[in-house]
Amino acid sequence: MKRVLHISTECYPMAKAGGMADVVGSLPLYQEAHGWKPSVITPRYQLPWYEEHNLRDIFEGNFLLEGKKIGFAVYQLKEGVLPYSYFCVDIPGLFDRSNIYLDEDGFGYRDEAQRNASFQRAVLTWLSKGAISFDLLHCHDHQVGFIPFMVKKVDRYQHLRSTSVFYTIHNGAYNSRYTWDRRDLLPPFDATLSQCIDWDGQMDAVAAAMRFADHVNTVSPTYLEELKESLPSLRFMSEQQPEKFSGILNGIDTDVWNPRTDALLSYQLTNTWDRFKKLNKAALINDLYHLEGIPLISFIGRFAHQKGGDLLVPAIERILGRFGFVNFYILGSGDPYIEQLVQGLRDRFSERVGCYIGYNEALAHQVYGASDFLVMPSRFEPCGLNQMFAMRYGTITIARMTGGLKDTVVDYESEGCGIAFAYDSVEDLTHAMARALHLYKDKKKYKKTRLKATKQDFSWTQSSQEYIDIYNQLTPDL
Ligand code: ADP
Repeated sequence: MKRVLHISTECYPMAKAGGMADVVGSLPLYQEAHGWKPSVITPRYQLPWYEEHNLRDIFEGNFLLEGKKIGFAVYQLKEGVLPYSYFCVDIPGLFDRSNIYLDEDGFGYRDEAQRNASFQRAVLTWLSKGAISFDLLHCHDHQVGFIPFMVKKVDRYQHLRSTSVFYTIHNGAYNSRYTWDRRDLLPPFDATLSQCIDWDGQMDAVAAAMRFADHVNTVSPTYLEELKESLPSLRFMSEQQPEKFSGILNGIDTDVWNPRTDALLSYQLTNTWDRFKKLNKAALINDLYHLEGIPLISFIGRFAHQKGGDLLVPAIERILGRFGFVNFYILGSGDPYIEQLVQGLRDRFSERVGCYIGYNEALAHQVYGASDFLVMPSRFEPCGLNQMFAMRYGTITIARMTGGLKDTVVDYESEGCGIAFAYDSVEDLTHAMARALHLYKDKKKYKKTRLKATKQDFSWTQSSQEYIDIYNQLTPDL
């Protein structure tokens, strides 16, 4: 059996900050059946999962990073605990923290450059010793974007040179770019190669990954086309080698996200969808003024420009001013300004709006289960998983047509089962939510649309096959 190692700074259930963790934790589950034995490696964080599991120290090493010796250890989880082999890298002082990317004030850690470079170099130092070998390395996002270059061009890791490298762009809005005085974040390499990892005068992880990986994908087909417009390095390289780039839609773990068995729900689906919604809604928002027969529209996500969180509050205010029969629930955190707006909204409309500012995995499951509609006013969306979870839990998605949302949500008036809108404006969002309320009033049509949503197939079946096909093309002789 061929072997793939997923290299990522997140993986559910150990360490999750967003959708990348869901993907890295679920794609491997569908690979073994196709002849690929999957493994995952992440940093070791100071998070509850690590306290609760026994990990065995299997390797210790060190490397020089900007003149400083960095020691690290690789740990392995006992086989059989997870459906794939799991390794993690302990780098004291850099990853033994209780948050993945953000400090207590919600800002990115200031030593992100050392953290990402150290993780990548620790993984390659370990791999180049050859105790365990892999046929393909699958690198996830910019945090590990220099790995393809180091595997293919850095002499120190020449033992790995024939290994195929796959690179997935989970969110092209983020990158690791360093001025050239940080060159020693990477090990020594031939100076003539500098131009190959440079974009616009800086070392650029995403540009380097796109140049040196054997294949590059985004997490939905539409996002690939959109990103070519906004990311010049991608446009340039995909024009040169179009066959090297693809868009593969993410899937979801349909065992974790199963309304019939989900232990994080107050009430599982045992009877009708109406009853499932009614019970879970009462459990979520029992402190709101009026529940019976009133639709619940929710939002779950990061309060970031990307997610359109700033559009949400003014649009909800307009809806509340016009309609008497709707409740809202907002779960999220991020931009302090949006957090304040949301709390202000809740204070002003405490009988109609519930919210939780923070990250809460269990609560997210409950919100998907309880809501009638989930709103996603994203300005851009590489794939988006929320709409897939929502539909599986009988929640109709109100989505702006961008990226992966365009690939997964079709308006109910165009034979789909969602509510689609075009522009990232308060007006368009308000109009879309008003359409949702009209649909809800037409009980027959609403229930038909909801049932259709629950029947959408967002499993990994199709997409995991697309990954495997490319893995196989990249490793023909094995
Ligand atoms: P992102 O761009 O944030 O990765 P995705 O839609 O790909 O967006 O994935 C978001 C994931 O994070 C989903 O699993 C969603 O349920 C979860 N999530 C986002 N915000 C929160 C929160 N505040 N609490 C719990 N889960 C959250």
